[in-house]
Amino acid sequence: SVRVRFAPSPTGPLHMGGVRTALYNYLFAKKHNGTFILRIEDTDQARFVEGAEEYIIEALKWCGINVDEGQGVGGDYGPYKQSERQAMYKPYADQLIASGKAYYAFDTSEDLDRMRKQAIQMKMPNWQYNSVTRSSMQNSLTLPEDEVQKRLDNGDPYVIRFKMPRNIDVRFEDEIRGWVVVNTNNVDDKVLFKSDGMPTYHLANIVDDHTMKITHVIRGEEWLPSAPLHVLLYEAFEWEAPKFAHCPLLLRPDGNGKLSKRDGDRLGFPVFPIDWLSKEGEKFSGYREQGYLPGAFINMLAFLGWNPGTTQEIFSLEEMVEAFSLERVSKAGAKFDADKTKWFQQQYLRAETEKSLAKMLREEVGDAISNFDDTYVEQACYLMKERATFVEDIYSEGHYLFANPTEFDDKTVSKKWKDEAEELMNEWSKELETISDFNAANIETSFKAFLEAKEMGIGKVLPLFRLVLTGKGMGPSMFEISDLLGKKETLKRMENNIP
Ligand code: GLU
Repeated sequence: SVRVRFAPSPTGPLHMGGVRTALYNYLFAKKHNGTFILRIEDTDQARFVEGAEEYIIEALKWCGINVDEGQGVGGDYGPYKQSERQAMYKPYADQLIASGKAYYAFDTSEDLDRMRKQAIQMKMPNWQYNSVTRSSMQNSLTLPEDEVQKRLDNGDPYVIRFKMPRNIDVRFEDEIRGWVVVNTNNVDDKVLFKSDGMPTYHLANIVDDHTMKITHVIRGEEWLPSAPLHVLLYEAFEWEAPKFAHCPLLLRPDGNGKLSKRDGDRLGFPVFPIDWLSKEGEKFSGYREQGYLPGAFINMLAFLGWNPGTTQEIFSLEEMVEAFSLERVSKAGAKFDADKTKWFQQQYLRAETEKSLAKMLREEVGDAISNFDDTYVEQACYLMKERATFVEDIYSEGHYLFANPTEFDDKTVSKKWKDEAEELMNEWSKELETISDFNAANIETSFKAFLEAKEMGIGKVLPLFRLVLTGKGMGPSMFEISDLLGKKETLKRMENNIP
């Protein structure tokens, strides 16, 4: 059965690219009734960031991407954190030494510098520590066996390097990119095991994928250059390799280069900020803090590199599972689009019930609306949701539903509030007073009768009514607004508010 993993390194916040990788893995797993696994790859102690693992788990939760097995959840193939698996890796490195596929390297950083310099003298500017250079310069591979043993016995620090076979074409079929062929002459002898007793990413990654019975490796394009090495490692161990799928890069809105945290209206960021991020001197904001609904975020993200082949754009997670396939993930980089991102958010906001919007609004603005009951707040949400992008906008855009306006839109005042305006509003106010069942329908009927009696067009009178009640030049139906405000508040504003 299908087993996929999301294998982030806890080196920082989870960015969009990471979440998208997690999402595609999740969708693929669910589509095939498989298992979605979370593995923490923390072998690089130098880049480890405190709190990052918790952040990753929380971010996935917020997105609604459920982990079936792995860190924080458990399962039969644990532990799911590489630092806790440390003891497992060395025997695998030893196995490759024994079979002649890897070797001990004792080069100090000075040695490596010397080789680099020598390479420049020999006019080999692209020098790499690999099979091409092995014969032309002295390095660890050329040490005789007894010398190697002597150094090991002596306790000299070493790394274990993969003996990259020389001049062969490594080929594998990527589920997204098709056939990939790389000649090994361009690949160096990668370190598999480090002098600090930790495996490198490459060794730990493939040992874990093998022992955790991973069937598909779905990850970002930045790992494509590592894939040939991984394929060769599987061969060296005589293991069956999983299938590979490398997702396209996320590009800046203009298509120029990779998306970074400074692009796209500052939207190319983490899912949400975390305290330690600000320590770097910059305040990060995330999607969660900006008020994005998880569904909108995930829906937007899914479309960065994938499309269903139909015109449908709004997908619940379940629908996405249904529609997802790796064949429909594109090879080309996906351009991030800030406007489209907002559009998704609007669609999701509108799809929320008034009840849930009201609940979210209370969480957002709390005290500011605590005097209003649920029916009132829900109706306010109903009136404002078409005009809002974020929950918070319901309050900021519809502020007049909760408080008497103190400011009046300049442009509308200068264009509409003419000499006769005040008198006209006084008369309309008297009409309003006579409505005994003060509801939107009755207010509208009465308003139409008023216009007829005055022989005036709606465009002359309605904006004045709106200005007095809301201070704005635009907004939802005035009849519904006054209905919601109630007769008392409406009349009070009619009497006191002079723009
Ligand atoms: N630890 C790697 C990362 O942080 C995982 C790459 C992979 O999926 O093989 O992206």
